[in-house]
Amino acid sequence: MELRSGVAAYYERCFGLDVDPESVLVVPGGKVTMAFAMLLLGESGREILYPDPGFPIYRSMAGYSGARAVPYALHEEMGFSFKAEDILARVNDNTRLIILNSPGNPTGGSNVEAEVEVLARGLESFPNCAVLSDEIYSRLYFDGESHLSLLQFEALRERLIVLDGWSKTYAMTGWRLGWGIWPISMIGAATKLAINIHSCVNAPAQAAALAALEGPQDDVETMRMAFQARRDFIHARLNAMPGITAARPKGAFYAFPNISGLGLSAEQVQDQWLEELNVAAIAGTSFGAAGEGYVRLSFANSAGNIEEALDRIEGWVKRL
Ligand code: PLP
Repeated sequence: MELRSGVAAYYERCFGLDVDPESVLVVPGGKVTMAFAMLLLGESGREILYPDPGFPIYRSMAGYSGARAVPYALHEEMGFSFKAEDILARVNDNTRLIILNSPGNPTGGSNVEAEVEVLARGLESFPNCAVLSDEIYSRLYFDGESHLSLLQFEALRERLIVLDGWSKTYAMTGWRLGWGIWPISMIGAATKLAINIHSCVNAPAQAAALAALEGPQDDVETMRMAFQARRDFIHARLNAMPGITAARPKGAFYAFPNISGLGLSAEQVQDQWLEELNVAAIAGTSFGAAGEGYVRLSFANSAGNIEEALDRIEGWVKRL
């Protein structure tokens, strides 16, 4: 309860949002909240909507639950935010869960408030459909933009599961720590899964998690600024390369350049960069069919390594 209260207090401090500690479930990593949501809501005959391109676990876990995994596309020309009408066109009486992710992996796109409002209104006709808002990059925004948590939308609260955790904000990926904010109507079922599967997060990690939330926070801002500088550098360098155009990521630590002008598939580009340049990028198609024509570059790496990688990519593009 001490840590759950710490998470609730964090929401008040960072976002001015009221969260009931009873609605918080601490789990071993952000992925666990998403798995629990899909295990609780997905089964044969039901549908789960997920973003394409999106974090690959969404589709994989939705399918594992027995539900039909239904993609909705994110569009580059909209900065990779979702369009409510794309989602609502796919919602029906069998839809049990819609997954949203902002800022997004792999695109760096973020939700647009007006689209969230349209979605919330549209969902009023579908009382059995929940929303999983993956907000794991909530503290990694650029250009002075701040996070729009779906918890701000009162109309969604009763159907909303928010996923966040320590992996990105506090660079504690290896600690395996995450939290979910659940509707009170679902927290009992989610807690039952936790008790059946892992009992609880180990006690030393819980102490570390509380220390991260309540200790000095200056490193969070230092890292956010470092990521923003890397984002600026990558964005400018990629856009100067012939055949490549890159949208400007609004958050998270990924660039998702459009490489369709190179005349190769995303997978070919990925493989050639890896094999010829020793540069690791991920084909957009690893994040769904709509990722064809894109690759994902992570800038969770040193400025020096990023510059070296971009030098190699630039040389390769010029030789093509
Ligand atoms: N959600 C998104 C969008 C991610 O990109 C990741 C990790 O890359 C996760 C969730 C999972 O985070 P965790 O390492 O805490 O399980």
